[in-house]
Amino acid sequence: MPGIEPDAYRVVTEETMNAPWFGVPGGRLFRCWMCCKRFKVAEEYRLLVSRGPEGNCIICKECDGPTIEIQWANRYAFARENFFWMWKG
Ligand SMILES: [Zn+2]
Repeated sequence: MPGIEPDAYRVVTEETMNAPWFGVPGGRLFRCWMCCKRFKVAEEYRLLVSRGPEGNCIICKECDGPTIEIQWANRYAFARENFFWMWKG
């Protein structure tokens, strides 16, 4: 995974697109985790670093905003509650 730089936008390259984000090869998790869009080269993304149980995620500029951290935490909480089978414990 490319270096973590939480508050800065980075430009998408072929390398970032194919990097093993979150340990999954082929860039399969390199999408905006809020709107799920797939990034294209030369677009910008940002890594959202969370101290909560939801962990880090990647976001696009369209989804970013002053409440993004709360939105991400809420998204995680919703998934945790509703898709319990995705977690083993
Ligand atoms: Zn997005």
